[in-house]
Amino acid sequence: TNFEYCHLPPRMIDNLKNLGYFQPTSIQMQVIPTSLVGRDILANAQTGSGKTVAFLIPIIIHTWSLSQFNGNDGKGGPYALIIAPTRELCIQIEDQTKKLIKGLINMKTALLIGGFPIPNQVYRLEQGVQIVIATPGRFIDIINNYPKLNINNIHMVVIDEVDMMFKVGFMNQVTEILEKTTIFSLASGYRQQILMFSATIPESVEKLANSILKDYIRISI
Ligand code: AMP
Repeated sequence: TNFEYCHLPPRMIDNLKNLGYFQPTSIQMQVIPTSLVGRDILANAQTGSGKTVAFLIPIIIHTWSLSQFNGNDGKGGPYALIIAPTRELCIQIEDQTKKLIKGLINMKTALLIGGFPIPNQVYRLEQGVQIVIATPGRFIDIINNYPKLNINNIHMVVIDEVDMMFKVGFMNQVTEILEKTTIFSLASGYRQQILMFSATIPESVEKLANSILKDYIRISI
């Protein structure tokens, strides 16, 4: 498989080439198609496997195709939310995202992490972004203090390094985020798509996946 034959937004193919990515890694080959058909995923993948690009490509494809139809300027609230346990990881994820969306219109990111002023981050959200990358604590602070921010348009949620979330005691916050960002249509039984990535799958992670994910696909490499 080669990225050129994957029906990606043309600018994204250029961006992938410029990064030196020509072929999807094993985790990308499994996660991208599964995610594109809308399934929940629990993926067992370590850093270095290409897991970040594995969840970013489907997020970008979905967000981008949506904006082709409705000119999605992000003002209706972000479309995708990526939660990671550390500031450093969030910074790296945002950096990767920016490299992949370069040149694509109506694609903006917000980085919501501690150590930076909340008002600036809220201002950025208010200007309209499609993809949010956040640590659990800061995301909750922001949604609790600025209730007028729309979080009802989040169709895809990624929880990265789930095992680490347990280790550092962020699990309650993660569950709270998943509850608060639930969009659910009774008529279609639809709810947002959730992708979980974890370097190891201890029982705690397995239990969480079983209680939160819907009819999920388990992927390991
Ligand atoms: P990650 O597992 O997300 O931490 O990614 C590990 C490294 O692999 C990162 O430095 C990426 O830039 C790189 N990478 C991701 N996808 C590909 C690809 N398809 N081909 C070559 N390198 C990649």
